[in-house]
Amino acid sequence: SPVIQQAALDHLGLPVRYHAWPVLEEDLPGGIDRIRQPKYLGANVTIPYKETVLTMLDLLDPLAESVGAVNTIVNRDGILEGHNTDVTGFLTSLMESADFEPKSIRALIFGAGGAARAAIFGLVDAGVEIIGIANRTIERGLALSQEVSGKIEVVVLPIAGAGLSDYASSANLIINCTSMGMKHSSAEGVSPLSAASISNSALVYDMVYTPSETPLLKEAHKAGAKVVGGIPMLVYQGAAAFELWTGRKAPVEVMFHAAERFLSENADSV
Ligand code: NAP
Repeated sequence: SPVIQQAALDHLGLPVRYHAWPVLEEDLPGGIDRIRQPKYLGANVTIPYKETVLTMLDLLDPLAESVGAVNTIVNRDGILEGHNTDVTGFLTSLMESADFEPKSIRALIFGAGGAARAAIFGLVDAGVEIIGIANRTIERGLALSQEVSGKIEVVVLPIAGAGLSDYASSANLIINCTSMGMKHSSAEGVSPLSAASISNSALVYDMVYTPSETPLLKEAHKAGAKVVGGIPMLVYQGAAAFELWTGRKAPVEVMFHAAERFLSENADSV
C-alpha cells in the first residue's frame, strides 16, 4: 500500500506522505485517536485490526457496518469515518480485470477471514445464486455462512474430498481468500484445488499476489480456465480509499504500474 498510494499522491502532485505504522494492540486506541489531528487525511487498517477498530470510530459507512470490518478510515475535521473498500476493490477487479458479472452464478470461496468476508458480502450484494465456503477451521466457515444464509443459498464444504471436488467442478467462480500458496507462508506451494476439479469455463481468482502465478492459478491454467491474481483487488481497494481521502480520481494505471514494478523488483523478499 505505501508504494501504490505514494505513487498516486506524487503523480497528482499532492503534498501528502503515506507511511506504514506498525501498532501494538495496546497502542491501537491512541494510534486511532491521533488520526483526528488536522494533518491526517486518514488511514488504512490491516490484519489483525480490521474488526477491532469498529468501536473506536465515530461513524461507519453502511457497507463497513454490514461486513463488520473497516480497512479505511477517513478524518473529516476530527470525526473518524470507517469504510470497507475491500468489497468495492474486489467487485471492481472482477468487472475490470475479467469482465465478469457475478449475477446468478455458483461461487466457491476458500477462507473465512477478513478477505473472504469482503468477497462474500460483495457477491451477495451482486446477486450471486449460491456460495460454497471451504475453510480449514470448519466452525469459522459455519459462522460466516450463518451471517448470509438468510440472503442467499450457502453451503459449507470440507477443505478436501469428493464433496469439495463435485461442488468445485460446477462452480463458475472459484476464489482463494486464504494464505494457501502465499510465498513465505506455512502453506507456500499449496493449491486448494487441482486442475481436475476446475471447469474450463470457470473464472479462478486468487487474492494472494506473491508469487504472481500462485499454485491455484497454475492449476487453473492447466484446466484452461480464466484467471485473475491478487494485484487488481489490491489496486482497486487502494484507489477507492485514495478517492475517499483526497476527493480526487485515483490514477489507477499509475498504481498498477507501481505495484507490478515493486513486486517484480522485490520478488525475493516479498
Ligand atoms: P485472515 O483474516 O487472517 O484469514 C486467513 C484465512 O486463511 C483463514 O480462512 C484461515 O483459515 C486461512 N488459512 C491460513 N493459513 C492456512 C493454511 N496453512 N491452510 C489453509 N488455510 C489457511 O486473513 P485475510 O485478511 O482474510 O487474508 C487472507 C489472504 O488474502 C492473505 O493471503 C492476504 O494476503 C490476502 N488478501 C489479499 C488482498 C488483496 O487486495 N489482493 C486483500 C485482502 C487479503 P482458518 O480460519 O482455519 O485459520
